[in-house]
Amino acid sequence: MPRHPDRMSAPELKPQQILQLRGALEEKRQQLKAQLKSSDLDTKPVALDQQSVGRVSRIDAIQQQQMALANQQQTTQLLKRIDLALQRIDSAEYGCCLQCEEPIAFARLQAQPFASLCLDCQSASENA
Ligand SMILES: [Zn+2]
Repeated sequence: MPRHPDRMSAPELKPQQILQLRGALEEKRQQLKAQLKSSDLDTKPVALDQQSVGRVSRIDAIQQQQMALANQQQTTQLLKRIDLALQRIDSAEYGCCLQCEEPIAFARLQAQPFASLCLDCQSASENA
């Protein structure tokens, strides 16, 4: 039984489309790695120098650091998803939904080349 009986299946990806998405993934990966490198500076422990840094600006610094950390975690997570997508390309599993195994629409992958779920499964998991 197909999981989405009313849906028109997306066509499977052509080799040329996979190449294009792979290029996008690799580019994004480089970009994120560079981003992580440059944000290293922002996540050093906040200096607790009471004399030069007032209480308010210390809180500021801590908040900024927490934001930088959250950003970094997001970037790291995205990097992991990109790595997984690249692995799936290598094992020829790329472009199929991990849940229903239907092909994922090329337009969706162009917007999110690291997507591992089709739109239906994605929205189902978000509404769950
Ligand atoms: Zn699906």
